[in-house]
Amino acid sequence: MPSTDEFTGWLGLDAKSVEGNLVKTTFNPKVFTDDDIDIKISHCGMCASDLHTLRSGWGASLYPVVVGHEIIGTITRKGKNVTQFEIGDRVGVGAQCASCLKDDCYECTHDNEPYCTERVFTYNDTFPGTDDVAYGGYALQGRYPASFAFKIPDGLPSEIAAPMMCGGITVYSPLKRNGAGPGKTVGIVGIGGLGHFGLLFAKALGSDKVYAISRSNAKEADVLAMGAEGIIATKEPGWAKDWTRKFDLIVSTANNADMPLHDYLSILKPGGRFVQVGLPEEPIPQIQFGPLVTMNVHLLGSLLGSRSEITEMLETSAATGIKSWVQTYPMEEVNEVLKLMEAGEAKYRFVLCN
Ligand code: NDP
Ligand code: ZN
Repeated sequence: MPSTDEFTGWLGLDAKSVEGNLVKTTFNPKVFTDDDIDIKISHCGMCASDLHTLRSGWGASLYPVVVGHEIIGTITRKGKNVTQFEIGDRVGVGAQCASCLKDDCYECTHDNEPYCTERVFTYNDTFPGTDDVAYGGYALQGRYPASFAFKIPDGLPSEIAAPMMCGGITVYSPLKRNGAGPGKTVGIVGIGGLGHFGLLFAKALGSDKVYAISRSNAKEADVLAMGAEGIIATKEPGWAKDWTRKFDLIVSTANNADMPLHDYLSILKPGGRFVQVGLPEEPIPQIQFGPLVTMNVHLLGSLLGSRSEITEMLETSAATGIKSWVQTYPMEEVNEVLKLMEAGEAKYRFVLCN
C-alpha cells in the first residue's frame, strides 16, 4: 500500500503535459521509513530529461509523474536511522534516489551506484519490493532515502547547487573517469545545461584546452566566458578537417541523434575517447566500425555519477567558486517555463524556486 500522506506538486498527467499542462495538486509519496528524510523543496533545476519523460519520449512514462531531479531543500523530518543529517540541514537530491547499497553488490561497493541493478531514479520509477512510486522535485515537498541526499556546502547558493545535482554530475563523472586534466584537450558537444557544466568542470580539472563543439557560433561569447579556448561550429560541411586528431576526450551531451558522429570521432587522437551522455529519443546514428578500428577510438556511455563524485563535485565547486549559469523562476510559473525550455531558451539552466 502506498502512503496516505499528501504532498503537493506539479503533476504531468499524460504526454501533453510537456506543452505546459502540469497540474498543481496532491500526490502520495513513498511510505516513510527509518532511512528516509522529508524535505521542504526550495529549488529545482529543469533538465532535458524532464521533457523527455513528460512526453513519454523514452517509452511510456508512469503517469501521474512529478518530474525534477535537481532538488535542493531543507530537512523537515528524518527517520531514526538517519544520523548524518539534522532537521533544518540544506541538502540536494539528484536523479538517482536509491540503490541496494548492500555489502555484496559489486557496483555499490565500487563507487558505481548508478549501475546497481536496484537503482531507483528520482521520478518515473518505483522502489523495488514495494508499491511506492518515486516523485521528483517540481513540488513543495519531497521524500527520499537519506543515503542519496547530499549536504550542500555553505558557500554554494541553492540556485547554483541545484543544477549540479544532475546536469553537473553527469559531466563531472565522465570527465574525471576519462582523464580530463593537465596535458589533455577536451571537447564538449552541445552547450546546454549539461554542456556548460562540461566546459566549467573540464577547465576546473586542469585540462590544457577545452573547446565547445556546438552546431553554430551563436554561443561563442558565452563559452569563452566559461573558460573555453574557442567554439567549433558543426553546421558547415567539412568543419572537422581542421581538427583531425586533436582531442583526447569528447563528452557529448547532444540531445538529438541527428548528429555528425563520424566527424566527432574523426577529431579524436588515436586512443581517444568519445563519451555520450545525452539521451536522444531516436536511435544512435548509423556508424561504421572503420573509425573505431583504424583509430583505436573508444565509444562510451555514462550515467550520472557516484555518491562520492557528487560530494567531491559540490565541495570542489564551493571551494573554487564554480558557478552554474542559471535563470530562476517561481515554481508557480513552471508551465510557462516549460515552453521556454522546449524552445531552447535556457541560458543555460532554468531553476524553479518556491
Ligand atoms: P539541453 O537542451 O540543455 O542541451 C542539449 C544541447 O544539445 C543543446 O543545447 C544543443 O547544443 C545540443 N544539440 C541539440 N540538438 C543537437 C543535434 N542535432 N546535434 C548535436 N547537438 C545537438 O539539454 P540537457 O543538457 O539538459 O540534457 C542533454 C541530454 O542529456 C538530454 O538528452 C538528457 O536527457 C540527457 N541526460 C543524460 C544524463 C545521463 O546520466 N547520461 C543525465 C541528465 C541528462 P548546441 O546548441 O550547442 O549545439
Ligand atoms: Zn537530469
